[in-house]
Amino acid sequence: MQVPLLDLKAQYASIKNEVVKAITDVCESQMLCLGPAVAEFEKNIASYCGCKYAIGVSSGSDALLVSLMALDIKSGDEVITSPFTFFATAGAVARLGAKPVFVDVEPDSYNIDPSLIEKTITKKTKAIIPVHLFGQLAQMKPIMKIAHKHNLAVVEDACQSIGASQDGIKCGNFGCLGCFSFYPTKNLGGFGDGGMVTTNDEKLAEKVKILRDHGQNPRYFYRAIGGNFRLDGIHGAVLNVKLKYLDSWSQKRRENAAIYDKFFKGSVIKPPKIDSNNISIYHQYTITVPDRDRLLKFLADNQIGSAVFYPKPLHLQDCFKELGYKEWDLPTAEKLCSQVLSLPVYPELTKEQIEYVAKTIFKFYSQ
Ligand SMILES: *Cc1c(COP(=O)(O)O)cnc(C)c1O
Repeated sequence: MQVPLLDLKAQYASIKNEVVKAITDVCESQMLCLGPAVAEFEKNIASYCGCKYAIGVSSGSDALLVSLMALDIKSGDEVITSPFTFFATAGAVARLGAKPVFVDVEPDSYNIDPSLIEKTITKKTKAIIPVHLFGQLAQMKPIMKIAHKHNLAVVEDACQSIGASQDGIKCGNFGCLGCFSFYPTKNLGGFGDGGMVTTNDEKLAEKVKILRDHGQNPRYFYRAIGGNFRLDGIHGAVLNVKLKYLDSWSQKRRENAAIYDKFFKGSVIKPPKIDSNNISIYHQYTITVPDRDRLLKFLADNQIGSAVFYPKPLHLQDCFKELGYKEWDLPTAEKLCSQVLSLPVYPELTKEQIEYVAKTIFKFYSQ
């Protein structure tokens, strides 16, 4: 039996007619950059996330970058974030000349540990970027409390967590800005790169909107130095179609995760832990295991796709050498990098496929 880590073709097959029609409409209209399809998608995302404003941008990375630009983050500033995330989270900080300050994560949720944040705050600290990793929110209550106490901005990196919630509130509503990605492999994936910034702050919404289009307002009059961070019409149209299915897909992922959970209970395989106040969208189903690299190879030999997100924490990456971090500065993130493995959890999986993955893992450990 073959079980790929993700099967985008299966999802496309299920909605092909609608998607092709939506793309054809954009082709006919020739409204290719922003335009009505993007405006409608922004309205739909704002309503889906339960926030006042949503601004379409060119990628999740650019959502982060333009959000930090809107907050005037610049050279000399410090921004606190997780070392156990995709590169773009810290990349956005560094690209503005600011300094990423990494805070270790919790071993169970893989998200930033709020109890370790306060001691890294200095006079230069301007913002915190909690990352809602693998589909589960970071602990926003203590994070917002710290942010208020020290007058820091909070930008949520929700690129992996669209639709996930905490205490009944969806991500993108806790901080001053929320950043989303529609990279094809994300839970809501477009037909290329795309992203979104959400906010409930009218002034910040206006700023992001201006900055994504070179800073112009009105046309050819530049109030700020922005960039080209626009979302294309075709992506808006495709994403509008897919958004209608997102909740049913997330529900399927949760059901698939529950099947794995049952298999792994009481074994050497540690399933991902979802806090009781969280609803995860399981962007990844990430276990921690002994002898991870050999297991990965064993799964591949048995036609099962799995992947390591992430093999090296950000604070130890060559590009951040100048920040001066050493090995074991952030031990939990470093340990996770050698223990985590993400298994197939996409909505179109069959029960038989999940069972095959679980049984193959047990076979490996019984050898
Ligand atoms: C995917 C991702 C990004 C970047 O999004 P792109 O659309 O690929 O630029 C940023 N942060 C996290 C946590 C991500 O998973």
